Amino acid sequence: MVTVEIVTTGTELLLGEILNTNGQYLAERLNAHGFNVFYQTTVGDNRERLTAVLRQAMARADLVITTGGLGPTQGDITKEVTADVLALPMNLNAEVMDRIERYFVFRGIGMTDNNKRQAMIPENAFVLENDNGTAPGIWLEHSGGVIVNLPGPPRELKMMFETKLLPRLIKHYGVQGVIHSRILRSVGIGESILEDKIADLIATQNNPTIALYARQGELIIRLTAKAGTIEAADVLIDKLEDEICQRVGRYIYGKDGDSLPLVVGQALAKNKQTISCAESCTGGLVTSMLTDIPGSSDYVLGSVVTYSNAAKQKLVKVAEESLSRHGAVSEAVAIEMAQGVKQLFQTTYGVGITGIAGPGGATSEKPVGLVYLAVAGPDGATRVYRHQFTGNRQDIKYRTAMTALEHLLDALRGNEQK
Ligand code: ATP
Ligand code: MG
Repeated sequence: MVTVEIVTTGTELLLGEILNTNGQYLAERLNAHGFNVFYQTTVGDNRERLTAVLRQAMARADLVITTGGLGPTQGDITKEVTADVLALPMNLNAEVMDRIERYFVFRGIGMTDNNKRQAMIPENAFVLENDNGTAPGIWLEHSGGVIVNLPGPPRELKMMFETKLLPRLIKHYGVQGVIHSRILRSVGIGESILEDKIADLIATQNNPTIALYARQGELIIRLTAKAGTIEAADVLIDKLEDEICQRVGRYIYGKDGDSLPLVVGQALAKNKQTISCAESCTGGLVTSMLTDIPGSSDYVLGSVVTYSNAAKQKLVKVAEESLSRHGAVSEAVAIEMAQGVKQLFQTTYGVGITGIAGPGGATSEKPVGLVYLAVAGPDGATRVYRHQFTGNRQDIKYRTAMTALEHLLDALRGNEQK
């Protein structure tokens, strides 16, 4: 097993001025090839701290990969510090110098003396050529392993990693197998209940491992397996997925790159069915999400944003009596909105959404976040759901929209009684 530490350098990373995309890129690519990234460290352009970080990294990882600080300026110190730590002298490398000179001639720009610094190479280093810039990368073997310096600009880093470093890593360490993940996406179940239902699987996890996290109104279950090939990893993941689905399958709506609007859309398209929405507190968000999917014109026939009582009466025929007796945010009105819009657009399904997004508009019986969602279906039945969401106005709108799609998917899958 090869353990890796990624060391990203640059004071701008510590200041939060730029996002550490190099760290993410390298971690993703290395793991995909079975190299175990155990640590990621970020350090500023400071000689002492970089020295300490490199010493620590070399002591605890087989392979250390740095990014940044290979440029021509005084602040670019990674290569020198690496050589220092290994007590190696730096020599002018004629081949690198020649490459840099040709690069400048090709670009038609003048070269300054400090570009020569980039041609100074630690003794015994193998040079990783830079096809997208001037700073060469460095590969150095030492008693405890390998240390690699890659440039900071992402375009240069990616090119060098893919074409120069990765082949060399595989040659040096041999093929490492793969670490492969699958994401199961669930909605409509709380994190603690989900965790409880698969607690024994989590407690005994090994290969694959299980990670649970909440993101944007959904709960993600990530299964990660290590194996010789992606196919072999998939077999391990399939087995665990089956086990999980037996317990909470009804809450799992999709995998990997799926999204609720996509899966709802696919189900509607497959059934050759259509949809329309009467949206109040979501202001059209559900329809917007549905129409983010290419090809949605096959099943989204139209929607109305019935924000005022007058619009609810006029456009989707909500009865005045329902509004005065129950109020706009009520079960009765949600049902009439769903049925009314279904009738208006002559669709298979009609969705009615009414609620209080806040911060104003609440009463003691109807707090902020109270939402009624109704789905009128092809069998003539209309189901209505009451939810109490929390958060700010945007959170409540988003949660409402996601939950409306969830109930719609339940209707499409005949899964309403979950
Ligand atoms: P240069 O020759 O441009 O000086 P360098 O190898 O010295 O390159 P840095 O000076 O550290 O690298 O960074 C150059 C630029 O690359 C930064 O301004 C930043 O835009 C980008 N960069 C550096 N590190 C990262 C990182 N970890 N993630 C994303 N971008 C980065
Ligand atoms: Mg630089």
